[in-house]
Amino acid sequence: MTTTPPSATPAPTSDPTSAVAGLASPRTLHSTWAPSYGDRRPPATEADLDAAAELLAGHRVVALTGAGISTDSGIPDYRGPDAQPRSPMTFQQFVGDPGFRRHYWARNHIGWHHMNATAPNAGHRALAALERAGVVSGVITQNVDRLHTVAGSRHVIDLHGHYNEVICLGCGHVIPRAALDARLLELNPTFLEEITELGDVEIAPDADAVIEQTRQFRTASCERCGGVLKPNIVYFGENVPKERVARAYAMVDDADALLAAGTSLAVQSGLRLVKRAARDGKPVVIVNRGVTRGDEFATLRLNAGTSPALEHLVHRLG
Ligand SMILES: [Zn+2]
Repeated sequence: MTTTPPSATPAPTSDPTSAVAGLASPRTLHSTWAPSYGDRRPPATEADLDAAAELLAGHRVVALTGAGISTDSGIPDYRGPDAQPRSPMTFQQFVGDPGFRRHYWARNHIGWHHMNATAPNAGHRALAALERAGVVSGVITQNVDRLHTVAGSRHVIDLHGHYNEVICLGCGHVIPRAALDARLLELNPTFLEEITELGDVEIAPDADAVIEQTRQFRTASCERCGGVLKPNIVYFGENVPKERVARAYAMVDDADALLAAGTSLAVQSGLRLVKRAARDGKPVVIVNRGVTRGDEFATLRLNAGTSPALEHLVHRLG
């Protein structure tokens, strides 16, 4: 969801969904909210972490995670305290501009090969351990990197999809990203070598990479209907599928506490789950570096990195 278009511009201040009427309802994965890090809070102390453990003890805890939990795996968080402002690609840009799409797929072709090589970190492993211990009932993640699943979490909802699948916008057919890779390699036999030699590769949260030399890249279309292929990821300006939203709400309703980790809760798809838990009087613990959009709904708010904080919870609760 956070990719850089060919000519990066500052974050949009207007709603990009208005550009293409009918493609997106008001409940879209788009936010002009940006965290202010002017009021950096003091880092959480051991006593704060103990308080979080105490608050969550004896509860069925649903975890909600975002980009901040994957930064320790080398995947940058474009909303984090130290992030440079980036302009996320919108769904409208992807469907509306063949040149943009070609550029996107060229970058995705490189990024995918890197994304597949990333590994879970202590934070992912801690949530998997807490699930095995019967503390965490499930993980709802806004990340598309699949690292929770790789780490061993069994009940995972990839709220925004994941980078390992591709969907046809024409017929809805879903194929594994690996299957498309073979076709892209065939269509662009020398592309990866040339780009590697240029050394101009950067990993992004949605398996994207930043390159400029994409003009010659050849994209693939759906083998069934010839339609446009898109990573099965929810872009800015696009809705989370209703069925998935329902499953996420059900997982929150089934739990009796919520732990948000590594997310600034900038987009509604995550924030509304926090609101739901708070509305029902459930304890809400937020672990994040910097302020979040959901702070007002938190029972306890910890300014901390996810790896040490979640490991601490494993020691206390696991
Ligand atoms: Zn198709």
